[in-house]
Amino acid sequence: MSTIRTPLETPSALATEPILAWRTWTLAGSREGDDVRLLPIAGDGKPWPVREPARAACHRGPRHHVVPGFACRCGLHATHAPDLLRRTRDPAVLGTVALWGRVVEHEHGFRAELGYPQRLRLVCYLCFWRWGEGEPGTCEVVARRLGGRMVPLCRPHLELSLRYGYRVGRLLPAARVEHTLLSTYAVDVLRMVAGRSPSPVG
Ligand SMILES: [Zn+2]
Ligand SMILES: [Zn+2]
Repeated sequence: MSTIRTPLETPSALATEPILAWRTWTLAGSREGDDVRLLPIAGDGKPWPVREPARAACHRGPRHHVVPGFACRCGLHATHAPDLLRRTRDPAVLGTVALWGRVVEHEHGFRAELGYPQRLRLVCYLCFWRWGEGEPGTCEVVARRLGGRMVPLCRPHLELSLRYGYRVGRLLPAARVEHTLLSTYAVDVLRMVAGRSPSPVG
């Protein structure tokens, strides 16, 4: 008889020292790209606040349950390693995030009560998805769709999108949008090590 391993989930604890973990976001911004916000990939779609911590809320559990709930899925999600994020649906930004307050650790990462981004960079979602098969391309443009959703793309994937008649929307220079993102959240850029996973160190 085989043993079924339940996912490792340690009882939640109050983290007084912030925990550093990995996360992806989508991005939304103004027409000229001079006002941008990080948005969760899943969830209620509320932007991450600027210069103050994001605070998790629960929309599923019973009222007055502490967030993140141990037997719930609420909390700000982040992973132990960037590779675990490769299957994220259409990310626009990859980064490290500081987590604190009540934190539940599980097999692949954490669910936390409070968080703030530490280092960020734009990612081409097509390169990011194929990460590990080759060098990720440098984002050259950000395609802004109607409604404000922003999609960073490397040059080859922009050309591919155009060749296949994909409506990319308004094109903005990626360097400018990334700079706006970093100064909005007052954080530093996440550097990539060539051919390897990105390093959280400057
Ligand atoms: Zn909950
Ligand atoms: Zn690409």
